[in-house]
Amino acid sequence: MTVLILGGASEAAALARACAAAGLADILISLAGRTAAPLALPLPVRVGGFGGAEGLARFIREQHITALVDATHPFAARISAHAVQAVRETGIPALALQRAGWAREAKDLWQEVEGLEAAVAALGPAPRRVFLTIGRQGLPAFAAAPQHHYLVRTIEPVGDALPVPHLTELNARGPFDAEAEAALMVRERVDVLVTKHSGGASTYGKIEAARRLGLPVVMIARPVASDLPATVHVDEALAFVCAHMSARASLPKGTELA
Ligand code: NAP
Repeated sequence: MTVLILGGASEAAALARACAAAGLADILISLAGRTAAPLALPLPVRVGGFGGAEGLARFIREQHITALVDATHPFAARISAHAVQAVRETGIPALALQRAGWAREAKDLWQEVEGLEAAVAALGPAPRRVFLTIGRQGLPAFAAAPQHHYLVRTIEPVGDALPVPHLTELNARGPFDAEAEAALMVRERVDVLVTKHSGGASTYGKIEAARRLGLPVVMIARPVASDLPATVHVDEALAFVCAHMSARASLPKGTELA
């Protein structure tokens, strides 16, 4: 009777903490394995891909997974699509724990773009001091615009992901508050911020700081969310997990939940 939480985002960690605090034990968190030292979680964790949607469906059957929560990052579209397909194939109940997007305010200077290449193009031909906060995986796209100075913040070291002549690297994990973000932007003479529209509170500081400083933001739009039933509330996801544990535990063997 194990619930599988697809993790890798702060919402998954929050749900894991809530489940542990509620005394729910039969839960497995799955991480892709992108970070060498992921945050410690209070529940069992498995690491690594499943081998596509078919692999995930096989894992669900073999490990007797009874329900799934997709609590991955809003930009992790592939695993979310695989979750939809695997849930369809196996018939288990599922929920997406999504992250609320940021609301644009009057003083925000956002240029919304679709994808990394459009973000590179939005920077234009003249050299700029760019604060790049899009994670490590998307960095190679910016090698196409080596005229800019990049202040890159990632959890993992950049390594050779962005071969450009002017790069300052910061390795840090959020949350980041607006005061510190504004001080960083002033100190580094940033003149444009590039970010994914990840949403949520823990990285909102940079958005607030850019607004205060009157800096433009190249905002990469989210991919389309999966069509699983969804919530943005950890409490509702916790109730889902509880329901699919206790309800199954008290039902006669072989009874299926709606
Ligand atoms: P993705 O493009 O949606 O997924 C790529 C592949 O990684 C999947 O096909 C799957 O491999 C594996 N994978 C992804 N999440 C997994 C999980 N929770 N458990 C097991 N395997 C997983 O994902 P991504 O954008 O590379 O992100 C990877 C992870 O980092 C995600 O879990 C996400 O929550 C987290 N993350 C992503 C971002 C971002 O901006 N994309 C930001 C912060 C955190 P198989 O096909 O072999 O199963």
